[in-house]
Amino acid sequence: TDLSHIRNFSIVAHIDHGKSTLADRLIQETGTVQDRDMKAQLLDSMDIERERGITIKANTVRIEYKANDGENYVLNLIDTPGHVDFAYEVSRSMRAVEGSLLVVDSTQGVEAQTLANVYHAIEADHELVPVLNKIDLPASDLDRVAEQIEDVIGIDASGAIAVSAKTGQGIRETLEAIVTRLPSPKGNPDGTLKAMLVDSWYDAYLGVIVLVRVIDGRLKKGDRIKFLSNGTTHHVDRVGVFRPEMEPFDSLGPGEIGFLTASIKQVRDTRVGDTITHDKKEVEALPGFKPAQPVVFCGLFPVDNAEFEDLRDAIEKLALNDASFSFEMETSAALGFGFRCGFLGLLHLEVIRDRIEREYDIELITTSPSVIYHVYGRDGSMIELHNPADMPDPATIDHIEEPRIKATILVPDEYLGDVLKLCQDRRGVQQDLTYAGSRAMVVYDLPLNEVVFDFYDRLKSVTKGYASFDYQMIGYQTDRLVKMSVLVNDEPVDALSTMVHTDRAEQRGRAMCEKLKDLIPRHMFKIPIQAAIGGRVIARETLSAMRKDVTAKCYGGDATRKKKLLEKQKAGKKKMRQFGKVDIPQEAFISALKMD
Ligand code: GDP
Ligand code: MG
Repeated sequence: TDLSHIRNFSIVAHIDHGKSTLADRLIQETGTVQDRDMKAQLLDSMDIERERGITIKANTVRIEYKANDGENYVLNLIDTPGHVDFAYEVSRSMRAVEGSLLVVDSTQGVEAQTLANVYHAIEADHELVPVLNKIDLPASDLDRVAEQIEDVIGIDASGAIAVSAKTGQGIRETLEAIVTRLPSPKGNPDGTLKAMLVDSWYDAYLGVIVLVRVIDGRLKKGDRIKFLSNGTTHHVDRVGVFRPEMEPFDSLGPGEIGFLTASIKQVRDTRVGDTITHDKKEVEALPGFKPAQPVVFCGLFPVDNAEFEDLRDAIEKLALNDASFSFEMETSAALGFGFRCGFLGLLHLEVIRDRIEREYDIELITTSPSVIYHVYGRDGSMIELHNPADMPDPATIDHIEEPRIKATILVPDEYLGDVLKLCQDRRGVQQDLTYAGSRAMVVYDLPLNEVVFDFYDRLKSVTKGYASFDYQMIGYQTDRLVKMSVLVNDEPVDALSTMVHTDRAEQRGRAMCEKLKDLIPRHMFKIPIQAAIGGRVIARETLSAMRKDVTAKCYGGDATRKKKLLEKQKAGKKKMRQFGKVDIPQEAFISALKMD
């Protein structure tokens, strides 16, 4: 296809504003998929994505469209991930296309993720076409939302298209706008091959599938290609496009988006944002490439120690398909063998943990999520601390730095006070506060460690779900941070240690001891629960001893009922771990860290 008849685009939207539904309608309207094969949200492939209504991996589809000018166009849609954890992937896939549909739910208006994603699009020099969706709903308010787009985002919304992705209204206009308002790609068909690695994932039959955008030259089946980031070379055994099923092609030219396979075994060997060229050829690397960096770490331990090898197997398999997930073996005095894992953010952590529990049927204990601290020694050395348990002797430490983020929160006026209080409680520093209609936009500089745990949940709950949130990393800053340990029955439980700010240590320690007191069942003896910094106890609770044998009290002499009860207790025990003489239930590890 010649360049003037190609349009490459993505759809940017806040979650639930209708990105997937709109993509489905575009696919359907152009007859890319027969009606009988149409199922809702065609591009959201993974189960978890579908359940949680989020798109995690970028997906793509090639659509053929005969426009009103009588010409046939190829439209390539890249569906970008819609969550803050995947900002780098979003920015890369934006670089692979020339324009975006900016979808805003006309009953809701602009939200934090609309903003975050539109900034990626603007940074990538996109032409933007505003699409006001859900006009079939009575609450739809086109004028208000168009005005908001102009005020908050600062782009012209006079040409916004009114759409219902549900009923199909406005879909033709959207297709026409893609052809007439978005630019065609540029590229040199006779130049040296230069392509961008947009995404990659593992397929059990084909090995790693690589999504590419060709910039110059041609990528052909049989070519020998090279990845610039690591210099590895591969023999291309297939190229093709997605419609959205894979369809083989002989080659892909400039401006085209499609896939290649080359018997690559690990997704780890393919880096999003990398530049691909022919072996023995030289091209300049595409700007902005960086390997994915995990920012949140936690320990994953099997509840049942005997499942350690199964866990290793599960983690290795998942890592094959996820270059941004890191892991290494970890031993904990309390929890035995497990893995220290790194994630792009909390959602990423939850997705991986869910998949291990669900797809591999392994029950897990997740330790407190931690960010990476920079710990500077008195001798001038610096270590990256991923695990509070590895904290060096405080006497050797000069100072500690922690990562901070810039958080953007959009919230209706009436909840603003609660949001400011929440951010203030989390050691936030307000940067900006502006209004757009009856909504406030607040920007805070916050420590990441105050956000990784339950900030998002708290934000949702204080605003009844009306706030939206997005963040980006801004860098490291020194603060007064210490390691707080927890002792149960005088034994330190390493999996419960956390890094805290000195000013908040006591409050945190007290809250944690109170929680644990409720979460740990009574035993035959008294159990002290303490929080300590170094050797100094800063909070303490005592769990009193159980008075009588439960079975004796409730069931007297009935032997069968007594046996049943004991069996039940045994089953319950499986979810517990023993620390010294004390059983601690699995949920204690997460619940104890939640702050109310
Ligand atoms: P995404 O998170 O942006 O991909 O949003 P989805 O496409 O999954 O849509 C979120 C919800 O809004 C789903 O329940 C859709 O059925 C619904 N939805 C999407 N577009 C429309 C529309 O035009 N009208 C109505 N009434 N509902 C819509
Ligand atoms: Mg979606």
